[in-house]
Amino acid sequence: MEVPSRELFIGGRWVPASQRLPVISPLNEKTIGSIPAAGPADVDAAVAAAKAAFDGGWRSTIGAERARYLRAIAAKVRERKSELARLETLDMGKPIAEADWDMDDVAGCFEYYGGLAEQLDGRQYEAVDLGSDDFNCRLRREPLGVVALITPWNYPALMSSWKVAPALAAGNTCVLKPSELASLTSLELAAIGQEVGLPPGVFNVITGTGADAGAPLSAHPGVAKVAFTGSVATGQRVYAAAAGNLRPATMELGGKSALLVFEDADIDKAVEWTMFGIFWTVGQICSATSRLLVHERIAPAFFARLKKRAESIKVGNPLEPDCRLGPVVSAAQHDKIMAYIESGKVEGATLLTGGRRPPHLQTGYYVQPTVFINVEPHMRIWREEIFGPVLAARTFASEAEAIQLANASEFGLGAGVISADEARCKRVVEALECGMCWVNCSQPCFVQAPWGGVKNSGFGRELGTFGLESFLSVKQVTTYTSQASEQGVSQGLAI
Ligand code: NAD
Repeated sequence: MEVPSRELFIGGRWVPASQRLPVISPLNEKTIGSIPAAGPADVDAAVAAAKAAFDGGWRSTIGAERARYLRAIAAKVRERKSELARLETLDMGKPIAEADWDMDDVAGCFEYYGGLAEQLDGRQYEAVDLGSDDFNCRLRREPLGVVALITPWNYPALMSSWKVAPALAAGNTCVLKPSELASLTSLELAAIGQEVGLPPGVFNVITGTGADAGAPLSAHPGVAKVAFTGSVATGQRVYAAAAGNLRPATMELGGKSALLVFEDADIDKAVEWTMFGIFWTVGQICSATSRLLVHERIAPAFFARLKKRAESIKVGNPLEPDCRLGPVVSAAQHDKIMAYIESGKVEGATLLTGGRRPPHLQTGYYVQPTVFINVEPHMRIWREEIFGPVLAARTFASEAEAIQLANASEFGLGAGVISADEARCKRVVEALECGMCWVNCSQPCFVQAPWGGVKNSGFGRELGTFGLESFLSVKQVTTYTSQASEQGVSQGLAI
């Protein structure tokens, strides 16, 4: 398949950058194309184009008009679904079946925010009860202006759409900076925006490195808000840059989510959710349940079943429809994961299965599905985000111990509890420190439900109505409506 050669998308035009970066496919380590590498001058041009588009009319469009564009984008994504999915897989290695699923979610996200854009019209000038006959107060929801959207490589098109769709629905214009490791589908989203006739400058895409494109974008004084998804270390830099301009930011950062499996769980089902929680997207999911806590009574049977299932996963070329585990995204990510596996062995955890490059895959960035048991809380594989198909597991003896172990983490993105006892699930959910709790499952994600974390996993929420609100400013409009005389005004205001 030909990888489209695109330029930067600024002000409705394709603009060449002075340099390009290679696109290296994780499937075979071959260079399959290139992307433009934006620098600070391109960032300035993109922000200026977005500002001109905002002031030039987009800010005063009604929600119903914006909804038409969003729905048209969704329709084009569906039309090009298999091509986009293939591009995503070639670029970052996730199994094609998962990439297909992602493209449905991308289209669903644009459709959903199309609906919310339309509803926004009906919510304008909502009344506030002041308890006063003399004043009337109403609320207007307004866009913020030019928003900077910076995204990671694990769900390239989907993470872009989680930001672009609500930003445009709210009436902002945007500059999207996808990850340099996987930018192809975000550039195709720009092409789709152009095809559906989005006014020039409303949606700009600049690709390039974090240092040369991301940093100047997050520090740009013309930006009204920064929405960031990525690692904790980068998030700290981006948040500091936004703070330098006193701009709001939302941070969707890393995680080390725990899955708690109690003694009354159905072992087969619990093993399937465990597998889904750590091996989906090759473990490169911020919310992956990468720490597993199993009640000691069922642990032997549970781990035996888990080992069997992990060893049955089909690892290989992710373009093959029955592939369930492809390569990880890059050589650096592969090295990092292998180093974590080594640290697990050195620190004394027991390798239940995996731990190597699959013998039949000597090129490409492949890692076997890996499970460690007897992992102690001080070990790096328990504490740090690995972002690969590596599960760290241990046992617990009581509910209180399980909760304590789950919460003893710098992260707080998601957590799952598996038990047949509803009352226990409720107690555990209430005790867990995280932004998302899954009961008798792991990783479900719906566009209608808010997504985000606490502690070092970040703040702010994407998706749902929360995702729209975070791109809106609220203006109170208060009118003096009393018929009282001038004297009455003075008395009323106690002057
Ligand atoms: P990363 O932090 O390396 O990069 C994220 C983005 O930031 C990229 O576009 C990158 O180019 C850019 N960037 C890098 N340095 C920058 C700088 N100084 N200023 C501005 N931008 C800069 O993250 P990654 O490796 O692409 O993604 C993996 C991380 O993302 C993991 O930690 C994962 O948990 C997290 N993630 C979180 C969520 C969530 O919803 N909480 C979702 C997906 C991924």
